[in-house]
Amino acid sequence: METTGIKPLLIVLALMIATAVAASRVGEPELAPAVGVTRALPRQVGRFTGHEMLYCAEADCAEAYGADEFDDHTVAVCPLCGGALDTMAPIERRLLPEGTEIVRAFYRDSKGSSFFVSVVIGGRDRMSLHRPENCLPGQGLSIRGNRLLDTPLDEESILHTRLLDVRRQVGGSDAAVFSHFTYWYIAPGRETPSQWRLYAWMAADRLIHARMDRWAYVAVAHDYNPLHEKESLEKLREFLANLRPLIIVPAAIPGA
Ligand SMILES: [Zn+2]
Repeated sequence: METTGIKPLLIVLALMIATAVAASRVGEPELAPAVGVTRALPRQVGRFTGHEMLYCAEADCAEAYGADEFDDHTVAVCPLCGGALDTMAPIERRLLPEGTEIVRAFYRDSKGSSFFVSVVIGGRDRMSLHRPENCLPGQGLSIRGNRLLDTPLDEESILHTRLLDVRRQVGGSDAAVFSHFTYWYIAPGRETPSQWRLYAWMAADRLIHARMDRWAYVAVAHDYNPLHEKESLEKLREFLANLRPLIIVPAAIPGA
């Protein structure tokens, strides 16, 4: 956490309690229709070509595919079981709150470098957007480092994202795969890498402005060679700087 001390946390908690009280009195605000990101991922990010991920909707199968494996994925079915295809895995469809939308894509260049991009658009329930720190270890990954990543976008602006240094063991051996996993949150006119800032904004919006933004969570991951970590981070920054303007939807009225 880049915040120091417990004070920000107490403010958030106080706002959450106040929000619950206010909501019980005046009812829940309407969910704003606008989303701060595009609902489809770009085909091309710099020299990287993207392939959207699709999942078999049958829980027993749940096979994952690249959309490029199908001529027309709107009518394609799972080649293994004939089930319908979905942009979310069956377990996500079942567990995530209604209204949650997910798109994912793999990006590759001709040299074999690749990035994985995941965008989750939340619904009314803030549980749509969970912290990856909480769920990555459950997927057999260990988080070895957690810090902020600064990516210069142009002369004046810097994109701040949360960077996790992730490691996973390969099939019971001593070999490990190293990955950088970076994420941030976006609503129209607002961006932050901090979940506490996100919750504080959500709480203040409900309580003070009687409004509810639809927040999106964007994550970008790629594997790296620990001997070349610095170069790998530079590649990640370059990818982020190319990706961000392609997925951001400019806000009609800048947020507070
Ligand atoms: Zn299937």
